[in-house]
Amino acid sequence: MRITRALQLGIGALAIALAATGCGGGGSKGIAENTAAGKLTIGVKFDQPGLSLRDKDGSLSGFDIDVAKYIAGKLGVTEDKITFKEAPSAQRETLIQNGQVDFIVGTYSITDQRKQKVDFGGPYYIAGQSLLVRADNNEITGPDTIKGKKVCSVKGSTPAQNLEKNFPDVSLQTYDTYSLCVEALKAGSMDAMSTDDVILAGYAAQSPGQLKLAGKPFTTEKYGVGLKKGDTESRGKINDAIEAMFNDGAWKAALEKNFAGTGFQPPAPPQVERY
Ligand code: GLU
Repeated sequence: MRITRALQLGIGALAIALAATGCGGGGSKGIAENTAAGKLTIGVKFDQPGLSLRDKDGSLSGFDIDVAKYIAGKLGVTEDKITFKEAPSAQRETLIQNGQVDFIVGTYSITDQRKQKVDFGGPYYIAGQSLLVRADNNEITGPDTIKGKKVCSVKGSTPAQNLEKNFPDVSLQTYDTYSLCVEALKAGSMDAMSTDDVILAGYAAQSPGQLKLAGKPFTTEKYGVGLKKGDTESRGKINDAIEAMFNDGAWKAALEKNFAGTGFQPPAPPQVERY
C-alpha cells in the first residue's frame, strides 16, 4: 500500500515538473496555444539578402519572411502579431526545443540528424550547396577546384558539415553568420564562401561586379519549417499552408519579387512531405 502511494506521489511530482517546464523547458506554450491567442514567435535569419534581411529600421524582407508571414496568416495570426527572432544556423534546434520560437523559417535544411531533435513541415524550396568567389577569381570553378583553398561557411550548417566530412583538403573557416563569411571573402582573407546557391545569389546581387557564383550546386538542400518534435497537428497545418502558397501563386510571386533582377530563375515548387 505504502509503496503504491509513494509511487503515485512520485509520478505526480514528475507530471508537475514536466508541466512546469513545458515538457522540455522554455517559454513558448506551443503553436496551438499561441495561435489561439493570435500571436507567434518565428525564428528567421537577419542577414541573408533575398531570403531574410533586417533593415536598419528593423523591418524584415525576403522570401523566407514572405513564407513565414503566409503560414502565420493561414494559422490565423496577422503580421503585426508576429515576433521575429534571429535564429543563427547553429542555434536552431535549441531555439525550437526550448520553446524560444514557435517555428523557424530560415534556410533550414531537412536532415535525418536534425529530425532526431525537431520536426519539419515542407519542404517549401529546394536549394543546393554552391561556391561564391570574388569576380576576378577564375581558379575556383566548382567543388573539384577547392583543394588547399581557404573556404568559409557557417557553424552548424549542412554546407560546413559537408566540407568538413568530404573535403578534408580544404582549409575550412566557420563563422556564426554568413555576413561575417562574405566580409572575409570580400576582404581577401578567404578564397571562397560555401553555402546554398540561393543564399549566395543574394550576396552576389548585393555586390554587383564584386562577387560571383562558381560552378553548379553539388548537394540537395530541402528547406523545411522547423518546429517542435511531435507537434503533428501544427506540422499538418503548416504543410497545408505551404501547399496553399504553391497553389494560389503567392509562392512564385514571392520568389520573383525577392530575386528580381538577380538573374536567378525560380524553380518549380517541391512536393510537401507528409510523414
Ligand atoms: N540550408 C543549410 C542549412 O540548413 C545552409 C543554410 C543555413 O545555414 O541556414 O544548414
